Amino acid sequence: MISSLNGDLENSLYNLHPGRSIVVAMAAEDANDLRRALEKNEIIPYFQPLVELRTGLLSGFEVLARWQHPNRGLITPNEFIPLAEDAGLNGLLTGTLLRAVFAAAKDIPGHLTLSVNISLTQLTDFSLPKHIRTAAEQASFPLNRLILEITESALVANTEQAYRIATELKEQGSRLALDDFGTGYSSLRHLQSLPFDELKIDASFVRSMGHTRESRKIAAAIVGLGNSLSLTTVAEGVESQTTADMLLWLGCDLGQGWLYGRPVPPEQLPEVLAARLDPVPPVPEPRSPAADSTLPLRLEALPTQRLAQLNAIYDGVPVGLCFIDRNLRYVSVNKRLAEMHHLPVAAHLGRYISEVMPSVYPLCEPYLMRALNGEASSNLEICYPDPNPLNEKRTHLISFHPACDEASEVIGISVSVVDITHRKQAEQALAESEDHFRHTVELNPQVPWTADPNGMILDASQRWESLTGLSIPESLGTGWIRALHPEDVRPTSRTWSESLRTGRPLDVQYRIRRIDGSWRWMRARATARRKNGEIIRWYGTVEDINAQRSAEEALRRSEARLQAIFDAVPVGLVIAEAPDGRVVKSNPRAEEILRSSATLPTVIDDYCRESISFSPDAPSTPGATDNRDHPLANAILGGQSIGPTEYLRFHSDGSSAWISLTAAPVRDPDGKVSGGVVAIRDIDEEKREMQRLADLNTVLKVKLETHH
Ligand code: C2E
Ligand code: CA
Ligand code: CA
Repeated sequence: MISSLNGDLENSLYNLHPGRSIVVAMAAEDANDLRRALEKNEIIPYFQPLVELRTGLLSGFEVLARWQHPNRGLITPNEFIPLAEDAGLNGLLTGTLLRAVFAAAKDIPGHLTLSVNISLTQLTDFSLPKHIRTAAEQASFPLNRLILEITESALVANTEQAYRIATELKEQGSRLALDDFGTGYSSLRHLQSLPFDELKIDASFVRSMGHTRESRKIAAAIVGLGNSLSLTTVAEGVESQTTADMLLWLGCDLGQGWLYGRPVPPEQLPEVLAARLDPVPPVPEPRSPAADSTLPLRLEALPTQRLAQLNAIYDGVPVGLCFIDRNLRYVSVNKRLAEMHHLPVAAHLGRYISEVMPSVYPLCEPYLMRALNGEASSNLEICYPDPNPLNEKRTHLISFHPACDEASEVIGISVSVVDITHRKQAEQALAESEDHFRHTVELNPQVPWTADPNGMILDASQRWESLTGLSIPESLGTGWIRALHPEDVRPTSRTWSESLRTGRPLDVQYRIRRIDGSWRWMRARATARRKNGEIIRWYGTVEDINAQRSAEEALRRSEARLQAIFDAVPVGLVIAEAPDGRVVKSNPRAEEILRSSATLPTVIDDYCRESISFSPDAPSTPGATDNRDHPLANAILGGQSIGPTEYLRFHSDGSSAWISLTAAPVRDPDGKVSGGVVAIRDIDEEKREMQRLADLNTVLKVKLETHH
């Protein structure tokens, strides 16, 4: 590689200055000839386009001198520039040329730049900045559109003077380009000492990029250097689209060369402008395969920002990433991967994988080898003991991707690692519990089933088949719905969807058709199983509740019958519960007799207070009797039937009426008193009748006695 690089250097130096050998052969009259040519304006500027690689848009022109010789035809600068330098005519040449350039620039749109070459000897001429300024001012050409190209070799000899002149040129507003970069000496020192804006990669590297790996590497390194110094990078000698694609991929900004156009005389400028000013498709077809597979990043940012963004992404992603070179050494490692390895990033760099990760390496080796042969392996599950002190097993999902250069040669391997240990553990736990679940299924009188988070039935016990006649495969997913009574399909689906949406347990009843055609009531219940808050499964059962359901229905029916009787009997009935005597029910007749539907006492105490006027033996004064021996209270507290007892009840309006109360305790099946019931009869009529009879009797008796 070293020898071939030297060869390139020599070549490019030779290419660049072949004029030097010609000069020796040139006669002295040639200098006079040149002087005459300058006076007669035979030295004319040619314009070669510079194009933005990313968009194909024109960015400016480089001015290249041509000698339109009356006898010898068009003479190239390599022949006469050295002559001009030796004859001290360079200042004159540049002056003449610049006037012609600024005159021609009237046809060039204001956003385009013009690059002019400055030779070695001119950088010793302190009047150069002033000459350029005057010429530009006379033509009203803004100096910020001017780029001055200085070759490296021009800087070698006279750095101090060159520095002062270049700085002044820059202070005038022009930009500086370092020309033929890579061919001279001490280039990096020049880059540092002069305020360059642009770096031009020498054509010798660019032209051979397509077939020499070393040239590609040098071009890549120069682009990288330019990007890191925030310089515009320009590639000279771009002759093919393949080269342009590679340069774009490398991040080079501008291209110049025959692909975009040869140098043209001023009169052809309108033609070139017309063809190049309209946006052309950024990347003409067909493209090289290398450029296709590795699309350049289209981030609208400076190269340095782009790099910073990429770095942030590289370190920020929750995925372990690293780049491995052809020798299987770590070139770069992101923070996440270093964390997974429990090692600092620096402990990886430059070291072999086999050395850094001895336990993982043998597992990865086959895939690494494959990647070196250009074959990618994606999402491999690799399980290995964690190098941390706990030494637990970790499962990683690893992908190996060969990284290729612009010529599709594998230069390394890009590896991504995702730690799926927890997911793996969850899956395992789930598998275990499902296994366990399957075992319990056959012992269960109910029909156990499972469903996924979307409510699709995954599994159900065989019992379902014997109940419904629908096979398990037929019932999976949403197939089970076919067993439901048409009226129950919608409410059941709605309830199930609601549970799926909210995650709340399912409890729903529906009828299913038995194999014999009868309908049976079933109750389905399910609860969600979660992992990290996410529902991963529904576990449910279906049970036959037909017997229960019909018993409930019978109960409801007999309850209704009892209620009808309760409401219809001509006796007042009040039911209270033990032990506090809270009234739970009273029938319309009771309310009628007591005339207290609105003020029906709610507890026995109130009842007693309310019925303070209840008084056996009809006491004449309200409040005179102690009512603790109210029959209902007695029945509940004493556990025995009381009555019938007759009372004279005083109403709030002062009227009174006779009633008869019979109370009885209500007992549980186990004999415990759970409440009491009191039957109330209106006996006012008969009581008064009896009273009248008794009174009559007394009167008769008295009369009889007085008779006798
Ligand atoms: P340079 O500054 O490196 O200019 C680029 C040279 O590469 C030009 O040669 C150009 O015609 C040629 N070129 C452009 N695209 C391609 C391509 O795709 N393939 C190939 N093989 N060559 C390409 P040119 O015009 O013969 O100029 C030669 C050198 O003479 C220039 O090299 C520059 O150093 C010097 N020169 C030209 N004009 C002036 C000038 O006005 N003043 C000074 N001091 N030097 C000049
Ligand atoms: Ca140049
Ligand atoms: Ca050049």
